[in-house]
Amino acid sequence: MSFKEKGLLVVLSGPSGVGKGTVCKALRARGTHLQYSISVTTRKPREGEKDGIHYFFRDREQFQQMIREDKLLEWAEYVGNFYGTPVDYVRETINAGQDVILEIEVQGALQIKRRFPEATFIFLAPPTLGELKKRIIGRGTETADLIESRMSVAKSEMELMENYNYVVENDQVEKACDRIESIVLAEHCRVDHI
Ligand code: 5GP
Repeated sequence: MSFKEKGLLVVLSGPSGVGKGTVCKALRARGTHLQYSISVTTRKPREGEKDGIHYFFRDREQFQQMIREDKLLEWAEYVGNFYGTPVDYVRETINAGQDVILEIEVQGALQIKRRFPEATFIFLAPPTLGELKKRIIGRGTETADLIESRMSVAKSEMELMENYNYVVENDQVEKACDRIESIVLAEHCRVDHI
């Protein structure tokens, strides 16, 4: 019998601004053995973002078509835009024995939990909500109204932490990466993953 025929689905989630993107980028830079899914969104590209690299940028009609055709593993509306994970990439990569990491917001993570409870759910938490607000403002990409919407979503998202298997505090990016790598390693050693 061969061990670990299927890869893991690792869901990295948490409030916007907590640093999910930064942590994923740092994991990539380390060469951590994970595959990164590219999401579909109806949000407009920010400066420097490219279609097919940062996101697949689509209009609402195209997004709704993907929902109708069951092409999304999960999707959520988040401060006025839609975001979703293309299902084919995740299925094919896991079936090929490779681990996939999804960097998504909390509602999408909860959908995956219902459809795919054996996935590994990691909640990336800010040291404090005040620190989170500083990070969102520091990013400099949002208007004052959007900062407030993101903060109010973040407060309710913090309460959903108990649905996850692990919580990783993002006090320092490299430490957060160490913890995530340790979690992935431990998940591979679980008796029920064999
Ligand atoms: P941003 O607009 O800052 O790129 O992303 C906003 C939020 O949407 C972030 O919390 C990000 O993690 C989340 N997000 C990105 N892609 C997906 C996805 O495919 N599904 C869900 N549910 N959330 C996503």
